[in-house]
Amino acid sequence: MLDTTRSPDATTLVDSETGRRRAHHGDRLLCAGCRRAVTSERERVPVQGSVEHRFTNPNGIIYDIACFADAPGCGAVGAATAEFTWFAGYRWRIGVCRHCGVHLGWRYDGSGPSFYGLIRARLVAER
Ligand SMILES: [Zn+2]
Repeated sequence: MLDTTRSPDATTLVDSETGRRRAHHGDRLLCAGCRRAVTSERERVPVQGSVEHRFTNPNGIIYDIACFADAPGCGAVGAATAEFTWFAGYRWRIGVCRHCGVHLGWRYDGSGPSFYGLIRARLVAER
């Protein structure tokens, strides 16, 4: 059992079953650049069998991303393309922070429900 009343940092308790940090005081995830709200933990959704994925882009850059059903703080820019898509049947657009414009990840539209694949390192939990 987790005791939040005496924790010095109640927002980042570790779940004893999964070992993952989980949010207790609100579950909003903020842009690491400007700390405005982007999405929330409850929007996390599995795509192709997993919420979290590791992909390498054509330039060899590795991205650890998590999938979210919605991300109101993330805007999609540019034209949708299926080129090099990481999710079969989906086209992607660049996803940027609506407030500061930093690249947060990608928006995917295609054969199933639309979702956002956001770079985990570009999101921080609200404190
Ligand atoms: Zn931002």
